[in-house]
Amino acid sequence: MSNRSDWDVVVIGGGIAGLCSAYYLALRGKRVAVIEAGAVGAQASGVNFGGLRTNGRAEAELPLSVRARSEWRKIEALIGERCDVEFTGHVEIADRPDHMASLETWAKMAEGYGVKPLLLSAAATKRRFPWIGSEVLGGCFVADDGAANPRLVAPNFALAARTLGARICEFNPVRTVSHDGEHFIVETENSGVLRGINLVNASGAWGGRLAAQLGETFPLDVMAPQMVVSEPFPLTVTSTVDYPVNGRFFYARQIDRGNLLFGRGPGRADLDSRRAQYVPQNAFDAARIAMDVLPFLRGRSFIRTWSGVEGKTADSLPFLGRSRSHPGLIHAFGFSGHGFQLGPGVGLVVAELIVDGKTATQIDACNPYRFEKGQESSDAA
Ligand SMILES: Cc1cc2nc3c(=O)[nH]c(=O)nc-3n(C[C@H](O)[C@H](O)[C@H](O)COP(=O)(O)OP(=O)(O)OC[C@H]3O[C@@H](n4cnc5c(N)ncnc54)[C@H](O)[C@@H]3O)c2cc1C
Repeated sequence: MSNRSDWDVVVIGGGIAGLCSAYYLALRGKRVAVIEAGAVGAQASGVNFGGLRTNGRAEAELPLSVRARSEWRKIEALIGERCDVEFTGHVEIADRPDHMASLETWAKMAEGYGVKPLLLSAAATKRRFPWIGSEVLGGCFVADDGAANPRLVAPNFALAARTLGARICEFNPVRTVSHDGEHFIVETENSGVLRGINLVNASGAWGGRLAAQLGETFPLDVMAPQMVVSEPFPLTVTSTVDYPVNGRFFYARQIDRGNLLFGRGPGRADLDSRRAQYVPQNAFDAARIAMDVLPFLRGRSFIRTWSGVEGKTADSLPFLGRSRSHPGLIHAFGFSGHGFQLGPGVGLVVAELIVDGKTATQIDACNPYRFEKGQESSDAA
């Protein structure tokens, strides 16, 4: 293989953002290469909770989320695999009047974006979800929400992109990125030098470091959501549930093989080692909360806990849009703990920005430069 190759687009990062971008770009006829430091989907995109919710999303993110949802609905037709996608609904429970009021406000707003939320009284919530043991004041249920198997999604988008002609280079960290005035020059550990007319920065929690090589600074923090899984048991938890406990959500869903996945306490992420470690005490705390909220769990075994490395922005919206200093560069990182569901929407938008020069999806609130005073840009059509 030659030590130098030329591409329409080089994508850095083989998580869901990068692979969906590669897939939709290849679908639109672009010659794409994806460079991934490890295995595709081995970081946040492969270890997450798998939740596909529009419920509770910030208004700024809803257009992207709703667009992503319609892609998830046809995932098998798109990439040839169902990836355990199911639409069993998502409920956010309120335990205080002010929380219930905010659910009512959210539901009214979300209807304007095509979401169909159902507000539930306390009695209706208990009737529909009799397995919730703790007090409830009511809830907001979105029946069209669902979940997918994160272990399957990124690798299958990679396979589909490869079938369309994309090159996927795994175990191949990017050493340096630069721009020679005409092309992006991506020097890799094992695949030589790739030259791209366009570059997609989809490097997740490492997106800030990559941008810095091209002279751009973004305020990106790191977070580490932590998960626990139980032994399998007969199907009980029929929808994904978010339950507030002391100002933070406990969230849970049961997969069709019977295990219950739940999350709450954070782990610890380290960008240099590219690993997140679970915090044992937070797993015990999450298990205790799980048994309070879902009392039928008492006596069950919890068999594994883990965490993942995720980029976090100050307003929890991603950095998504065109670079100001390099027009051929698109940033798509910093998904702040809820970017799995957005993945296919992000891929479509990135492909549109590169192929059409604009997107019809409203992403202004994700402007990468929004934290700089007086900076505004629009990629909207
Ligand atoms: C435990 C957990 C639970 C979550 N639950 C949910 C959920 O239920 N629903 C939801 O919507 N979201 C959830 N999220 C968030 C979601 O997983 C992320 O927002 C999403 O996966 C981010 O995708 P990404 O492609 O931006 O990042 P990543 O998956 O991290 O991919 C970025 C890739 O870039 C690669 N990379 C970085 N630097 C380089 C380099 N220099 N050279 C080559 N490659 C590089 C990395 O190796 C990595 O594979 C959760 C996250 C975690 C950790």
